[in-house]
Amino acid sequence: MSRDFSFTLRATDGPARLGRFSTPHGEVDTPAFMPVGTQGSVKAALHRDLEAIGATIILGNTYHLFLRPGDALIARRGGLHRFIGWNRPILTDSGGYQVFSLSDRRRIREEGAEFQSHLDGSRHMLSPERATDIQANLGSDVAMVLDECLAYPATHEAAADSMRRSVRWAGRCRQRLEELRSRPVEGVTVTNPGQAQFGIVQGGVYPDLRLESADATVEVGFEGYAIGGLSVGEPSDVMYEVAGATAARLPDAQPRYLMGTGTPEDLVECVARGVDMFDCVMPTRHARNGQLFTSQGRLNIRNARHAEDDGPLDPACRCYTCARHSRAYLRHLYMSGEVAALALNTLHNLTFYLDTMGRIRDAIAFRTFESFRREFLRSVSSLAVES
Ligand SMILES: [Zn+2]
Repeated sequence: MSRDFSFTLRATDGPARLGRFSTPHGEVDTPAFMPVGTQGSVKAALHRDLEAIGATIILGNTYHLFLRPGDALIARRGGLHRFIGWNRPILTDSGGYQVFSLSDRRRIREEGAEFQSHLDGSRHMLSPERATDIQANLGSDVAMVLDECLAYPATHEAAADSMRRSVRWAGRCRQRLEELRSRPVEGVTVTNPGQAQFGIVQGGVYPDLRLESADATVEVGFEGYAIGGLSVGEPSDVMYEVAGATAARLPDAQPRYLMGTGTPEDLVECVARGVDMFDCVMPTRHARNGQLFTSQGRLNIRNARHAEDDGPLDPACRCYTCARHSRAYLRHLYMSGEVAALALNTLHNLTFYLDTMGRIRDAIAFRTFESFRREFLRSVSSLAVES
């Protein structure tokens, strides 16, 4: 286990957990939301602004950074933190999800995933060992194991085969990390010796496979555990049920990360089932499409009804966008294609997500999470969604 990574469970309220994990680049209070910084940058947001609104950890995408500018180039710059000028914690994914979703002509074998770059068609092999090496070069605080991402829906047999391969790959990732921790390996620069590694539970929507995967992944032994393969098209109630059953099977003393989820309601519902960490492109991507989250529901800033509205996006929001600008101005910027619209919208949506997490943490600390949850879901469901 990494001596530089630890997790403390500070309070619980039912299955909801208040915690804190410590990394070589600082601490993260959980439940936490991680803004997605695909190319070493959260789209349309400066690091300075992320720090100001309370982002304590961001996510980097290994697939993209590996293809461009390359993990070796980043290692020569001293690792991802120094290269991008972000001194707080970073989690990197394994690259597997993008290989499955973005690349051309991928082929999965026991050895790993062969694929062609979506940028220039160049051929690559992402094996469990290679995914571990790339993330060692990047030097994130939390690295993820390479897993197979199964399309939804999948049969029980296909989900079982895929999950068992992911368990074998998890074992190889862990073995490789232990090698890197114990001796120099040619071609790899361990830019963050305190890097932790999380295993990933798979198994589709099948409870028996999820439990088998959880037990086998915990058996390998990681600093934390993720729940993968959800938010891929299954109904919300199925996602909540699978996430909850999986979280309950994982060790209490380590963090649990639900990958790629979701709406604000999803975050609240999954915290209620024992999840500690989340990431999703939704707040940033929606912001760039003019879709904004507010305490009064979701709105689309393109709508004509905002054209002469002098009020803020959300009177309950503390962000710079809401403090400074009217809906009328934000709509004008968006309709004119001004880049400031993307920055202002992104800052607001991320503030909404991070503030929601802060309210969740306060509610768990005061043991009022259930009433918070009921109130939050009622306000969300009673409000119209503008498209
Ligand atoms: Zn705001």
